[in-house]
Amino acid sequence: MRPAGPAAVSSKGVWVFAEQRNGVLKSVSLELAGLGRRLADQLGVPLTAVLLGEVVEELASEIISCGADRVLVAEHPLLKEYQPEVYAKVLADLVVSQRPEILLIGSTSLGRDFAPRLAIHLRTGLMADCMDIQIDHAQRTVIGIKPVASSDLLASIVCPRHRPQIVTVRPRVLPPPVQDLSRKGEVERITVELQMSEARTRLLTSFKEASASNNLEEATVVVAAGQGVACREDLALVEELAGSLGAALGGTRPVVDAGLLPESVQIGQSGKTVRPRLYIACGVHGAAFHVVGMRDSDIIVAINDDPHAPIFQVATLGIVGDLREVVPLLTEKLKEVLGR
Ligand SMILES: Cc1cc2nc3c(=O)[nH]c(=O)nc-3n(C[C@H](O)[C@H](O)[C@H](O)COP(=O)(O)OP(=O)(O)OC[C@H]3O[C@@H](n4cnc5c(N)ncnc54)[C@H](O)[C@@H]3O)c2cc1C
Repeated sequence: MRPAGPAAVSSKGVWVFAEQRNGVLKSVSLELAGLGRRLADQLGVPLTAVLLGEVVEELASEIISCGADRVLVAEHPLLKEYQPEVYAKVLADLVVSQRPEILLIGSTSLGRDFAPRLAIHLRTGLMADCMDIQIDHAQRTVIGIKPVASSDLLASIVCPRHRPQIVTVRPRVLPPPVQDLSRKGEVERITVELQMSEARTRLLTSFKEASASNNLEEATVVVAAGQGVACREDLALVEELAGSLGAALGGTRPVVDAGLLPESVQIGQSGKTVRPRLYIACGVHGAAFHVVGMRDSDIIVAINDDPHAPIFQVATLGIVGDLREVVPLLTEKLKEVLGR
């Protein structure tokens, strides 16, 4: 076990963990670079990004263009695929030697696995799954904002005494970063010595989920099925609507629990957060736990047979009716207009 995390007074700087998979940066890492830039400017400190992988140095310029002043690049064959203990060790060693005061990590499946390990390793606190971050200037601490119990209730979480303050932030809750391709930054290569024995798990094989093409979090149009979609025949109608728009298909928790859609496409508090240009909710009630994951969509169209359903309170356009009638009509019109 390591000694307690570095004292607040001697820690300085904002860090972002730049997550990449197969040589592509996760969009949340770029969103976090934008947030990190804002926090670093407010605190008057530099923004550093940490990039781990096998051959990843060329990604540094992208993260610099989104706001980083410096990128620490650690390349090693054992960092090619995510290995929890190895990733945590490399980042923990860097944190102990360089003492950042804030560390931002994307709340992806990797981040959700890795951040708590890191916090335990460093004996510091973790503000998990935040929707926003503010700064308490008087205390020089971050305040992590996250919904609890329902989206109407927001909790403010602080880590006043231990450093770094580790925060995980959900993808798509922050605005996309402003990229400046002329930005210059420093790239520092870190030498890491790792042994196979340090990894307690071994990746035997990886496969793409059948719905991986349904890239919900990045989609510009999302069609969501709620429990008003009662059976596979109803779902086929919603899928056809999604197909006519080239949209990603998502759903509410009960639809996932019923086995109609995979867990990977659940939208809401315990699922994904989406921020498309257009979100079409079919038979979705509008429960707070769902709305928290889609309310930042630009245009929300709701189809529901109950005129008092709460989804209409967040909808830009509401259609009161049976989705079995409305959805096929809408699909037909869209196919006509879009020629699909
Ligand atoms: C800790 C916790 C975490 C949760 N996390 C999530 C989450 O991440 N995501 C999530 O979605 N939920 C989550 N939930 C569940 C959430 O509280 C709601 O129960 C859920 O969102 C409701 O799903 P729904 O709108 O599909 O179903 P319902 O509440 O059953 O609503 C169905 C709607 O469809 C309408 N309808 C029915 N038939 C038709 C028809 N033929 N045509 C048109 N409309 C029709 C009804 O009027 C109704 O408004 C969570 C709950 C808890 C306790």
